[in-house]
Amino acid sequence: VGAALPRTVGASLRVPVLTGERVEYANLDHAASAPCLEQVRDAVDELLPWYASAHRGAGFASQVSTRVYEQAREAVRRFLGARGSDAVVFTRNTTDALNLLARSLPKRTAVVLFDTEHHAALLPWRGPHVRRLRTPGDPDAAVLELDRALREAPVGPRLVVVTGASNVTGEVWPVAEVVRVARRHGARVVLDAAQLAPHRPVDLRALDVDYAVVSGHKLYAPFGAGALVGRSDWLQAAEPYLVGGGATTRVTDRGDRLGVSWSNGPERHEAGTPNVVGVHALATACDVLGRHWARTLEHERALLARLREGLRSVPGVAELSLFGAGHDRVGVVGFTVGAQDVGYLAAALSAEHGIGVRDGAFCAHVAVQRLAGGRALRASIGLGTTEEHVDRLVEALRRLVTEGSRFAYEVRDGRWAP
Ligand code: PMP
Repeated sequence: VGAALPRTVGASLRVPVLTGERVEYANLDHAASAPCLEQVRDAVDELLPWYASAHRGAGFASQVSTRVYEQAREAVRRFLGARGSDAVVFTRNTTDALNLLARSLPKRTAVVLFDTEHHAALLPWRGPHVRRLRTPGDPDAAVLELDRALREAPVGPRLVVVTGASNVTGEVWPVAEVVRVARRHGARVVLDAAQLAPHRPVDLRALDVDYAVVSGHKLYAPFGAGALVGRSDWLQAAEPYLVGGGATTRVTDRGDRLGVSWSNGPERHEAGTPNVVGVHALATACDVLGRHWARTLEHERALLARLREGLRSVPGVAELSLFGAGHDRVGVVGFTVGAQDVGYLAAALSAEHGIGVRDGAFCAHVAVQRLAGGRALRASIGLGTTEEHVDRLVEALRRLVTEGSRFAYEVRDGRWAP
């Protein structure tokens, strides 16, 4: 199983460029959202005729929807190596999942995290017991800093927030070491796997991580579904994240007030009609990715090496790195190009070469400020990426840097445009 690479929808999409031609779109922005897998599209297509409200109807289609929805929990559980006792709560995305966890922490939980995280992992934690550590330039030092911070943390529940792979540099965090230190201090760990899970197998049990969060749209499913997976006790003890239908087992009229019993399972935090299509897409993507790791890893390793080597050969390109160029990373490369404006470069790559990259601060302002002075470019690869896409980016950048563009660009509505 898994000899061929799973195919993505839109792999041969053609886009207009300034010469008037159409060229094959080189999507080098998988880190933002990955294109949908063909198998995911087919699975959604197959489900649509059965579209009906899960957990809410007696009809046959409703029963199908309910089964599909509950089977999706098991697919996500398998994909992330979660324990049988772990809750799988469906959310909109990683941001939603981390906010849910932040709202579910026991009172006075000490939260420790590093400041180079994506805003989704950096911002949801509130209160006097949140400690943001400055990310040091070396992973061993980061683990030591964490050890020190946890030693100083107040007595009580503790949570460490760590990213699996940085969305700015692609660097893989030393999660096993982080967990070891956390355990020594009785702390739980939440892994922001948004960037790691599309590129590497994530196994909660093997890593001994307490929680993991993912976004379907980065895992080759369409937008709309993500998950929080992990220990159920805090989640069950917490107030529901949203209140409404589905989160309650019983609501009674008690005259001057309502008597409300909240559900105890994952539904407690999933009020409202569930996104059956979204979670089915997410679950299918998990199943497909899980069957193709060997081939995926090989594909991405080769393309990442080609991309980094190519970029290094372009005058002025400086790769962003938290932990040094030799550190392990997934297929995400943040970089600057001398004094060139990254917004202009991204616009020219798109308008003249049909290449999609990301420019700006990638929702990780602290990290991008520190590593790049505020703005950078990011190229990120995935299952739909080809050698030609990578080579086209490298050659296009080289030409833009050495010869400039023959088209004029200006800033309109805050963005560079030809
Ligand atoms: N964490 C990381 C590391 C990410 O890369 C992202 C998305 N860029 C997020 C969290 C947030 O994901 P979403 O926007 O899907 O909620």
